[in-house]
Amino acid sequence: MSQSGVIQELIESLKLLSGIGPKAAQRIAYQLLTNNRSDAMRLGNALLSAVENVHRCPRCNGLTDSDLCSFCSSTKRDDSELCIVENVADMMVIEQSLSFNGRYFILMGRISPLNGIGPHEIGFDKLLERAADPALKEVILATSFTPEGEATALAIGDLLSKRYPHLNLTRIAKGIPAGAELEYTDVNTVAQAMLNRRVK
Ligand SMILES: [Zn+2]
Repeated sequence: MSQSGVIQELIESLKLLSGIGPKAAQRIAYQLLTNNRSDAMRLGNALLSAVENVHRCPRCNGLTDSDLCSFCSSTKRDDSELCIVENVADMMVIEQSLSFNGRYFILMGRISPLNGIGPHEIGFDKLLERAADPALKEVILATSFTPEGEATALAIGDLLSKRYPHLNLTRIAKGIPAGAELEYTDVNTVAQAMLNRRVK
């Protein structure tokens, strides 16, 4: 059965989302267009507005529609602690665990030599700049316990300890199962891992 170009384009666009296969994309498209037209309009407007107005925070790489994100601009957070994560979803899990009240720095992914992704590609230069903040005392390496996450933590640790020997480098504890993505770990486990972090 051939579908109208407009509907097909919607289905193809939905398929680009992670976790959405061809069947699910079709189901969502039909659902939005038949029963939920006002929801569909709202989704479309929200998406358009977010894409037009949201950009990376120049200080932490988080997402914001202001000059600085709320985590960087808040006066209630501790400037002496910087938590390094792989992505925005990981940052939000740590935030929901209520185990941390410092600042964040979000890498643009993780090191993967096989795919040609090195320190430069994931924003080490910007991290070095950020770590020059004189208020900073502790850097918490909160990358995942996957091989790539571990390699990333190791590389950041090396780089920071050479450039800023006064910084206290810690790694979140392994309450988090080996091979686990932070994003998919429950918040209590993440909270424990933050509290039990150890000196690198
Ligand atoms: Zn920020």
